[in-house]
Amino acid sequence: MILFLLAVAISTGICSVSVQSKNPEWARLDAYHNSMTSPKFEELLRKVYVPRESWWKDWIKIDEKEAHIRKFAGKEDWYVLPFASCPRMALKNRRQEYWRPAANLRFLDRQKPLAGFTIALDPGHLGGKYSEMEGRHFVIGEAAPVKEGDVALLVAKRLSKRLGGLGAKVSLVRNRKKPVTIDTPKTLRKEAEAWQKRIEGDVVSTQTKKERKKSIRRRGEILFFRSSEIMARASKVNEKLKPDLVVCIHLNAAPWPTPEKNSLVERNDYHVLTNGAYLGGEIALDNQRLEMLVKLLNRSHKDELSLAECMAQAFKRATGLPAFNYKGPNAIKLGEVPGVWGRNLMANRLYECPVVFLEPYIANSTQVFARIQAGDYDGAKMVAGKMRISLVEEYVDAVIAGLVAHAASHAN
Ligand SMILES: [Zn+2]
Repeated sequence: MILFLLAVAISTGICSVSVQSKNPEWARLDAYHNSMTSPKFEELLRKVYVPRESWWKDWIKIDEKEAHIRKFAGKEDWYVLPFASCPRMALKNRRQEYWRPAANLRFLDRQKPLAGFTIALDPGHLGGKYSEMEGRHFVIGEAAPVKEGDVALLVAKRLSKRLGGLGAKVSLVRNRKKPVTIDTPKTLRKEAEAWQKRIEGDVVSTQTKKERKKSIRRRGEILFFRSSEIMARASKVNEKLKPDLVVCIHLNAAPWPTPEKNSLVERNDYHVLTNGAYLGGEIALDNQRLEMLVKLLNRSHKDELSLAECMAQAFKRATGLPAFNYKGPNAIKLGEVPGVWGRNLMANRLYECPVVFLEPYIANSTQVFARIQAGDYDGAKMVAGKMRISLVEEYVDAVIAGLVAHAASHAN
């Protein structure tokens, strides 16, 4: 059975990955020896990835010649990363990634402004029958349920066709209302049980047998739709699709005003995320520390910021909405354009190439709810008190404008 599943997994390109954290492979950083100067490394660390020095100083020591990185929590075992002595040496030793920076992609053809770009579209979540399990589902009265994963997939499919016409080579990380991983909550049951034992520790549990069973079942679901699914998508992106950039398609939502009863909110806005703003607790995890350093050293931030700024400007123009502002330490304002923030999410950390997360619209706002209920249609129609094109069409137009602006800003 296992062999059969493995054969299916290979032939269809779907992936199963252990969600248990493996030992970090610090040798991954060997490819980045002498490829960045000490000031550049420190600037990216402080301004983008870990804004508070107190969060990284026990894990990373920087001098002019080298960075010393603690390999494992609680151990005096350090990885030594030699720096380039000058920017010219750094350029010479720059690692060839599977993705190409926009500056290296020629603006080939005025009629086909995205010629040369390989783009992966990643519709967030699973949608379909999984939307309730993953908490990306809501119902108001008698209206059809809103499923973020389904709207994201509609946008991605429309985008894929239009971007192809502009010369881009496009692939979808998920192309149906189904998971990329071959794991299920059931196959992850053992790992869910291990998790339950870990949180219980030596303390005698106050849960009833039924509560404990329910808690393990829920953990299995979370390991499935969050950990295993994102890890499978990361393998697909990094090992199979190898795009120049990934656009993650989402819709934002606001907390419900009253937890016991769903009622729509008036807030409506947009924001765009790049990878950054690791918290102290995240940097303390050996795997996340390594993954953060791969993103920092591969210089994906430069393209992520350019793309995110172009996207934020495009969404502002297309929607007329205000930009969202974060208040807590889990996000950092990056660049000058409103609505562009750094956050450490599993997907934008594990996808090695430049990644932007689009978070336009508040799905549970009065206006967006009405627009989602109106569905996808041609031309303009009266929705939520105004003549509007469909939300899917507006989303697609904005992403195209953002991608074209990003490509044009690197034209040579
Ligand atoms: Zn989402």
